[in-house]
Amino acid sequence: MFDKILIANRGEIALRVIRAAREMGIATVAVHSTADADAMHVRMADESVCIGPASGSQSYLHIPAIIAACEVTGAQAIHPGYGFLSENANFVQIVEDHDLTFIGPSAAHIRMMGDKITAKETAEKLGIPVVPGSAGGVPDIETARKVAAEMGYPVIIKATAGGGGRGMKVAEAEAKLEHAFRTARSEAKAAFGNDEVYMEKYLQKPRHIEVQVFGDGKGGGVHLGERDCSLQRRHQKVFEEAPGPAISPEERARIGGICADAIAEMGYAGAGTIEFLYEDGEFYFIEMNTRLQVEHPVTEGIFGVDLVREQIRVAEGLGLSFTQDDLQINGHAIEIRINAEKLPNFSPSPGKITQYHAPGGLGVRMDSALYDGYSIPPYYDSLIGKLIVHGRDRPEALARLARALGELVIDGIETTIPLFHALLGEEDILTGNYDIHWLEHWLAENM
Ligand code: ADP
Repeated sequence: MFDKILIANRGEIALRVIRAAREMGIATVAVHSTADADAMHVRMADESVCIGPASGSQSYLHIPAIIAACEVTGAQAIHPGYGFLSENANFVQIVEDHDLTFIGPSAAHIRMMGDKITAKETAEKLGIPVVPGSAGGVPDIETARKVAAEMGYPVIIKATAGGGGRGMKVAEAEAKLEHAFRTARSEAKAAFGNDEVYMEKYLQKPRHIEVQVFGDGKGGGVHLGERDCSLQRRHQKVFEEAPGPAISPEERARIGGICADAIAEMGYAGAGTIEFLYEDGEFYFIEMNTRLQVEHPVTEGIFGVDLVREQIRVAEGLGLSFTQDDLQINGHAIEIRINAEKLPNFSPSPGKITQYHAPGGLGVRMDSALYDGYSIPPYYDSLIGKLIVHGRDRPEALARLARALGELVIDGIETTIPLFHALLGEEDILTGNYDIHWLEHWLAENM
């Protein structure tokens, strides 16, 4: 059992982990950059260590400083949160080499899923349906033409090392292929230092459906249903819900069962998300994320379990506190991502919060590291809060979301809150009738 863990992250997710640890009686160590000396996670943790200057690469990504912080504080394990080092297999290896525990899957599983081509091949071997596409990497434009001609247009070119929606380009027809191929490659090179790309059939009207899975670290695997994260801007999620409004209980049991079996067969340990595109009743694997996701609270909402607690338990070797049969869906949950961004262009809007008031009441959860007088630094992600609501059914959750949004006050900076007020007036959102392109179309017409 751990006495003390270190959280190698900042913002709302650092708070999220501190809260779970505290309920388990585990002491916490925050790490922070000089720009985050006054951050909420530093105030909330039992101890804190400054690990470097503002830039992420010199602080939250600086492995030696994080290991040293464990050594000086006596922390036995590291929770990586999401982003930063959470899917860095090299980091996991270094953590283990220092006799510390990484709260997450093995370096081998992270490496396997971090390379999207290997991930797809592995998924296929495990019986998971995948998007039709190239067999492995596409080295040159001639091969790209051949693959596209066989598959049919439109096609999407994606970075093997991709993430965060970068290095992805669509070609609607052969005339656009060469340009798309070259831009995808140069974006991939710039973002990930690896210009390898692969190709997939570009699906026209899919939903993004992802299955939450958990490996117990003892050869067992469970699934916690799906989340619908189709509302996206630039391939990034802005609104997520569970259960998926378009997924039937039979489909959930089928795809969930396939995913849970795959996790067990892999011997995977900890939380993971298997992402699919869903169109015309079929699921197509796109990737697996080997970490806790931003949108995990909607799953917690409908199952009433604490996923961070389960991550810590699995890392301690205790396994999960529930079995598949214990998991019953209760109601509906929705999360919205509030960013420090100025509409209509979503340009970054850091600065000082002059007034902050979080909504409350039945079924309302606000995960945020904001406080009155806090200055949002310009160096990091623009996510400043997640508002999560739970209701007995989808209409109740939507009404609660509108009510809670009305109570939320964030003054001093521009945020994406007005976007959600507007979306809650849209018939398609109220009926759940949207696919992965809906929001981009709506933004083009309305903003
Ligand atoms: P990343 O790791 O960069 O997030 P993903 O492979 O998870 O990349 O894809 C992110 C999003 O891009 C998906 O949710 C979807 O909106 C879009 N996308 C990816 N692959 C396809 C495809 N084959 N057809 C249509 N849209 C796609």
